[in-house]
Amino acid sequence: MLDALRDRLAEVADLGHAAAVLEWDQETFMPPGGAEGRGRQIATLRRIAHERFTDPAVGEWLAAARPETDLDRALVRVTRRDWDRATLLPARLVSEKAEASARAMEAWKAARETDAFALFAPHLAYVLALAREEADLVRPLVAAERGPGYAPSAADARYDALLDEYEPGASTASVAETFRQLREGLVPLVAAAAEAPAPDDSFLRVPFDADAQWAFGLDVAERLGYSLDHGRQDRSAHPFTTSFGTTDVRVTTRVDPAFFPTAFFSTVHEAGHGIYEQGFAPGLEGTPLADGASLGVHESQSRLYENLVARGGPFWTWAYPRLQARFPHLADVPRRAFVRAVNRVEPSLIRVEADELTYHLHVLLRFELERALLSGDLPVADLPGAWRDGMRDLLGVAPNTDADGCLQDVHWSLGAVGYFPTYTLGTLMSVQLWNAADRDLGGLDALLAAGEFGPLLGWLREHVHRWGRAKTADEVLRDATGSGLDAAPWLAYAEAKVKRLYDLS
Ligand code: ZN
Repeated sequence: MLDALRDRLAEVADLGHAAAVLEWDQETFMPPGGAEGRGRQIATLRRIAHERFTDPAVGEWLAAARPETDLDRALVRVTRRDWDRATLLPARLVSEKAEASARAMEAWKAARETDAFALFAPHLAYVLALAREEADLVRPLVAAERGPGYAPSAADARYDALLDEYEPGASTASVAETFRQLREGLVPLVAAAAEAPAPDDSFLRVPFDADAQWAFGLDVAERLGYSLDHGRQDRSAHPFTTSFGTTDVRVTTRVDPAFFPTAFFSTVHEAGHGIYEQGFAPGLEGTPLADGASLGVHESQSRLYENLVARGGPFWTWAYPRLQARFPHLADVPRRAFVRAVNRVEPSLIRVEADELTYHLHVLLRFELERALLSGDLPVADLPGAWRDGMRDLLGVAPNTDADGCLQDVHWSLGAVGYFPTYTLGTLMSVQLWNAADRDLGGLDALLAAGEFGPLLGWLREHVHRWGRAKTADEVLRDATGSGLDAAPWLAYAEAKVKRLYDLS
């Protein structure tokens, strides 16, 4: 039974990877005229993959499977989970969702361009109605998986069902409590940084040769552990990572020729995702286990490399002379001034441009608002006002337009409710993992300052990467660090960093 199951899963994985190649090309090299045909080709491959996976035979093989190894038990558990969810939703709801989000996305683009929330509002209301319908269908599965102690409020149960898609096992109540602790510690920290004299970052806002930026970023990505024998980097409007199997994992970046951090930190961020995907154990290939344990765990890897490594002083001890060699205008900028500049904390309006600290406040706002939208406590028409109030409360700044406010992110138009929290959950995990690696390896700072990135990579391979989905996010974290998700380590890290870089005490 397991052999038949494995054969079918390999076929489904091949179809998915082939579709991913077409999607990658669509975002990188495809000429504009190819869009229509390409959309059809991708839809065809995805439909065939879905049919092959939801085939009743797969359910029969799963029911009859008698797994004897840990790996096979994980394979059956994860495949069962995916199969239950894939077969649960009626075809009508699946196609209605696809059509509604395609229309909502077009309306969102038009509304954002003209700053006209009213154009988007009815689409958002409909997408939310479908999300509620989906959540109510998925709720019993989530409840069954979590056992008899699971007793959420009705509103939380709905949000749990959507959150579970991206962060399996996470609950609204515990995320809300973690975020409450985060907010309590973070708001005063951001205020303290905002009151201190802002670090000068004018030397980052001058022309940086685009090719030299590209070469520097890719060299760092490779040294950190991203293999170019099994990957490559190209340009795209929005940076992303995609996998055609562990032996071919692609990343993209974008380059701003007049602002250094854009390309460099997005390159390192995506390299972190790519390193994870390249590190799944070979035995997972061709099965649903060859994927991140959760979006949060995936983000923990990108944030660990982006923030803990590449925004840290020790890394620049090694990297800064190399950067100065490529960009001679930095010759007169001391390393400490450079490190302060790339860590500047400043409340701003746009999530994707936010610094390491204020970023979470953007996520907290979205978490609050999307729960209120889903429960109906917040009518769609009131979203723009609630957004401005929330920004004022959390960040002390508020947008003048909805384009810079509630229309800035694509997620809700796609029906992706429950996705935003994973960005912050992953970042909290990144510090927990970092602390454990630091302890196990006897100090990461000295290794990074010497440009020795192998030990950290080896530790992550052993404790995180190789498992893929064979461990749950909670198991990965507990086995690697000894504890479950916790905001305190990140807060301690952020506080120490702000005090050091802003000379506060
Ligand atoms: Zn990411």
